Amino acid sequence: MNCAVCGATMRPTRGALPFRTTEQAIVIVKNLPLVECENCAQYLIEDAVLSRVDEILATVDGAAELEIIRYAA
Ligand SMILES: [Zn+2]
Repeated sequence: MNCAVCGATMRPTRGALPFRTTEQAIVIVKNLPLVECENCAQYLIEDAVLSRVDEILATVDGAAELEIIRYAA
């Protein structure tokens, strides 16, 4: 797969990304599988990973303003 922005090679990696669950609450998901451009800051999350993130976020009660969760498939 090539980067849609610069055309360089995209490579799989792991990273942490913030997801907003409510107006006030943000969940940071660590160890998230990403596909990252080796040349610029562009990245993609595969659909299967994104659905799993949705499931993970659904288990968060939203009581804390900031929560950090480790991704597990
Ligand atoms: Zn790129």
